[in-house]
Amino acid sequence: MEYISTRGRASAVDFEGALLAGLAPDGGLYMPEAWPRLTVSEARRIGEMPYAKAAAEILSFFAGDAVDSALLHEMTADAYGGFADPAVAPLRKVGDDDYILELFHGPTLAFKDFAMQILGRLFDAALTRRDETLTIIVATSGDTGSAAIEALKSCARVNIVVLHPEGRVSEVQRRMMTSVIAPNVCNIAVDGSFDDCQAIVKALFADETFVRSVRLGGVNSINWARLAAQTVYYYTAWASVAGKDEPVSFVVPTGNFGDVFAGYAAKKMGLPVAKLGVAANANDILHRAISKGDYTPATVRPTASPSMDIQVASNFERLLFEAKGRDNTALRDLMEKFSDKRSMRIDDATLAAIREDFVSAAVSEEETLAEIAQHEKATGDLIDPHTAVARAAAIRLRGEGVISGKIITLSTAHPAKFPEAVEQATGRTPALPKAYSDLFDRPEEMRKAPAAADAIKSIVNDLFAKGSA
Ligand SMILES: *Cc1c(COP(=O)(O)O)cnc(C)c1O
Repeated sequence: MEYISTRGRASAVDFEGALLAGLAPDGGLYMPEAWPRLTVSEARRIGEMPYAKAAAEILSFFAGDAVDSALLHEMTADAYGGFADPAVAPLRKVGDDDYILELFHGPTLAFKDFAMQILGRLFDAALTRRDETLTIIVATSGDTGSAAIEALKSCARVNIVVLHPEGRVSEVQRRMMTSVIAPNVCNIAVDGSFDDCQAIVKALFADETFVRSVRLGGVNSINWARLAAQTVYYYTAWASVAGKDEPVSFVVPTGNFGDVFAGYAAKKMGLPVAKLGVAANANDILHRAISKGDYTPATVRPTASPSMDIQVASNFERLLFEAKGRDNTALRDLMEKFSDKRSMRIDDATLAAIREDFVSAAVSEEETLAEIAQHEKATGDLIDPHTAVARAAAIRLRGEGVISGKIITLSTAHPAKFPEAVEQATGRTPALPKAYSDLFDRPEEMRKAPAAADAIKSIVNDLFAKGSA
């Protein structure tokens, strides 16, 4: 399987090439040259397998010859064996046609573990084989950072640098990153927003000298291997609720458009998916884009669901590429104009193509807290604010007749990762799982830096320039 850049000016690479590069050298994102296709009965056969097996099967479609299939089975068994729930991604029924897919049973209590745990193992195998080292740099709005650190801290060939927006991640999220103290781990609190952090990462990748000197690689959700790993739970969830070839809808709390795009990839591969619901919080650029064709970043507003406090959603470029019929010249033009004007009007034909698969809703802060409270009343269970955004969106989209039939809402974080909001809504304090009971007593280590690429470069160069890995 070959991977091509959305912007059409980089040569094709294999799965391992896309894994190690992250972003394509022409500034585009890697996409499979053609979607692997499964029949519905194959989808069901794989979806009904134990999670780790299903993951190895799906990943081998994407990896092609680049990774040995037996090795993939070992890696996924290892990666998902450490999840706290034996089902890995258990599904709960919460209404007649309503389900919640729990994606927070991994080591850092958020769905990012699904991709990161396998990514760490893929990196290790590829770098050992090539006898190379890599410095991973990642911008986080809270959950990616801890998931990446947890997955990579014991990789001998990987250094990891995590940028988080200072004061804009929850204390639990911060401590889960900064309490991991290891010579190959560097946490940096950036004086700015998540979008600033993401822009710095892009700037570092654009500096070829720097990329070479520290051997830079990325694990943000622009990395194709992450999306590939995230398609798996759409299969297992679908198989456990759908009759024969019954289409099911998914509602996804969305930030960088990675998770919901994995659902789109699953659909492109042949999984019967009716609608993909994009749930946004008060940072509603994706809702404006899908409902009105207006993709214009506003100022980021901090909310109770910080992992969705994003204005420029990197993976949206992948959808535009698809909706434009994979016309990379048109896409490049669009992205260049967007980068000049900081605003994009999506034309009617492209928008119509997007709406064949996607619907959207934006949920306010009041509605988010009300949904946490309402859910607790109805079920006795606590949900985190990201999940609440998606549940509120699912209820609204069904009420408006936009989605009908079975709806699976993705639950992306454990409520104890966001105790403040849960407490405010319900008066109950969600307990952290045992593994984290001493989190607030662990020492922390982090650096601070202004939101400037040069400041970050010099820190990373000092720590990890070639030779010091
Ligand atoms: C990252 C994250 C999201 C958003 O996922 P994207 O792939 O960026 O759209 C939603 N909820 C939680 C808890 C997250 O950590």
